[in-house]
Amino acid sequence: MMSLGLSDQKELKELEWYLLDHFFRQSNKGITQFERKSLPQDMITLYLRYRNYNLEKINEMVNPVINNLLMRQVITDKENISNDNIKLFELTSYLSRLQCSTCFYISYLSANEPRNCLRCTSDMLHDFPKTIQKKKDTSNK
Ligand SMILES: [Zn+2]
Repeated sequence: MMSLGLSDQKELKELEWYLLDHFFRQSNKGITQFERKSLPQDMITLYLRYRNYNLEKINEMVNPVINNLLMRQVITDKENISNDNIKLFELTSYLSRLQCSTCFYISYLSANEPRNCLRCTSDMLHDFPKTIQKKKDTSNK
């Protein structure tokens, strides 16, 4: 187990956010299974944030993030092999994209997780973007 400094932790947290953003977008297209090995390249291709990263660096960073998501049961290992050798995994549920009313952070939460902001743990969350609310809410205006 490598020891991580604070800035590394922050970077991993950020990578987790981008990975969940990726999973969220894919699941909206009906894709809920992902190949571990394609993730680093996906991140570099899809997100400006990682455009200048090399594949090896992202690949290393993905491991602890994926292990964490497995632990939180956001994703599940399709082949039931050890976490370090994960090849194929699947979202355990569709993700919700929720914005915090307190700190405005956007969290991607699985149905297995408590509905709390991943940054400040507030439970004052609403769908993001707000315009996609159900019709029943219009009577409150
Ligand atoms: Zn918050």
